[in-house]
Amino acid sequence: MALLERLDGSKKVQIKDFDPDMDGGIKRADAEKRTLALCNELDELQELLYAAQETPVLIVLQGMDTSGKDGTISHVMRYMNPQSCRVASFKAPTPLELSHDFLWRIHSETPGKGMITIFNRSHYEDVLVVKVHNLASPKIVKARYDHINNFERLLADSNTLILKFFLHISKDEQKKRLLDREGDPTKAWKLSPTDWEERELWDQYQTAFDDVINRCSKPYAPWYVVPSNHKWFRNLAIAEAMVEALRPHRKSWEQRLEQIGTEGLKQLRAMRQSH
Ligand code: AMP
Ligand code: MG
Repeated sequence: MALLERLDGSKKVQIKDFDPDMDGGIKRADAEKRTLALCNELDELQELLYAAQETPVLIVLQGMDTSGKDGTISHVMRYMNPQSCRVASFKAPTPLELSHDFLWRIHSETPGKGMITIFNRSHYEDVLVVKVHNLASPKIVKARYDHINNFERLLADSNTLILKFFLHISKDEQKKRLLDREGDPTKAWKLSPTDWEERELWDQYQTAFDDVINRCSKPYAPWYVVPSNHKWFRNLAIAEAMVEALRPHRKSWEQRLEQIGTEGLKQLRAMRQSH
């Protein structure tokens, strides 16, 4: 059975029903071995994906500060070929970005065919931080769920595989990680006083995540709630979900490659004959 449930909107969920400490009964050393094997398969699948030039892949990472978005990128994604994989990080919008609709800055970062793009934060901030801090009216925020669903539907209709991960940590684990950062000069650069202020709004954020997951989980753009108190479990679970999403396409990409190869050889022979 898969470690993570693929939420497609067919049932209502609440974040608090997911245990952030869950480790699937797996030992850390076993998890690391399995993650490595999955990451090697991911690398192979990515090569096929890139060569076949048929499918864009969009990975969305969301979560509270210290939930492990950067860690996931460096641990799971490091096995992929940087030629066909990129990260787009979304910070507070610039005045230019704010002068457009909220999806303007997002759309231009979506992957093209054969590419994998990882969103480190995303358009979901526009119904998370924006909602929690009242940066837009409730009416505007409410309309955004439909805009997001329609936008992701457009991407999916254009053949994009979409996987969205909510990295779920407990409030205590966040405190521990923030204090660890203070004590570690190599990590202190990530600290920001606003991390502690945002922490005060923990419950409001969890409710906003509940809304996101219930309103924007679709068969064509599922959410996965990733228990992330154990970083090694988080890495394993995300690697597995990615491989399971890409693996069914292997045959079709291989066939496409064969087709491209045959076509190329035909053209080469024709060129040789004409000289
Ligand atoms: P970090 O990911 O820690 O570098 O922080 C990026 C910050 O940008 C976070 O505090 C986000 O909440 C904020 N941010 C990202 N997107 C938006 C947005 N659309 N509106 C307001 N703040 C945002
Ligand atoms: Mg931060």
